[in-house]
Amino acid sequence: MELLNVIPYPILTGFVVVFGLLVGSFSNVCIYRMPRQESVVFPASHCTACGSPVRPYDNIPVVSYLLLGGKCRSCGVKISPIYPAVESAIGLLITLAYLHFGLSVEFLVTAVVSTVLVIVTVIDLQHRIIPDKITLPGIVFGFAAGFYLEGWRDSLIGFFVGGGLFYLIAVLSRGGMGGGDIKFIAAAGALVGWQKVLLIIFIGALSGSVVGIALMALKGGTRKSMIPFGPFLALGTLVVLYFGDDLVRLYLSTMQPPP
Ligand SMILES: [Zn+2]
Repeated sequence: MELLNVIPYPILTGFVVVFGLLVGSFSNVCIYRMPRQESVVFPASHCTACGSPVRPYDNIPVVSYLLLGGKCRSCGVKISPIYPAVESAIGLLITLAYLHFGLSVEFLVTAVVSTVLVIVTVIDLQHRIIPDKITLPGIVFGFAAGFYLEGWRDSLIGFFVGGGLFYLIAVLSRGGMGGGDIKFIAAAGALVGWQKVLLIIFIGALSGSVVGIALMALKGGTRKSMIPFGPFLALGTLVVLYFGDDLVRLYLSTMQPPP
């Protein structure tokens, strides 16, 4: 990666932005096809309404959506604004990871995980599932990155603390916690270790409660109209990737008696 440092910073940043948008574009394919048990590789992108293939010049992230006025060129059906939103979000998050971590293992890990978090968020909101196709490779990736960044002991304990805690909640609440959430938090635990996975759960539960209460107040829903937990766990994971070590240090320092 040292070799890449000879490329001027603004040009490298430009590359990262374009790369992030392209990853976002591919993520849309994953978001649409994974819950439908379709291959993410074949066939090539096509309009989900009329089936006509998306031409390469109509497949430029965000730009094509704006040029086409949010409509399919062949049949004119409206294209969901979620597509350019996903592309922008992932493009932004990958750029942010690069600006924060520079070219490093941390950058690669944060870029991959941020992308997966956006995919998980949208799929969970649309289908109320977190597919095994994401969580099972996620556990393998979590261990690989966690062993390297956190050490094998923290990573292993994180896996069992996160997964075990959610499994326990699932058993006690009799279905209040989905299997996808359990596998997700186990993967996150393997990635960040046991201290920071507790932080993810705390941030997830806190933000989920705030949004849940706000929705109940606005729409008059009950506790039964459940909102999925995945997006809030994703938010917690993202916060922990950037601020986890600082937050854990801050927490531990408040535990110390004053000098
Ligand atoms: Zn069409």
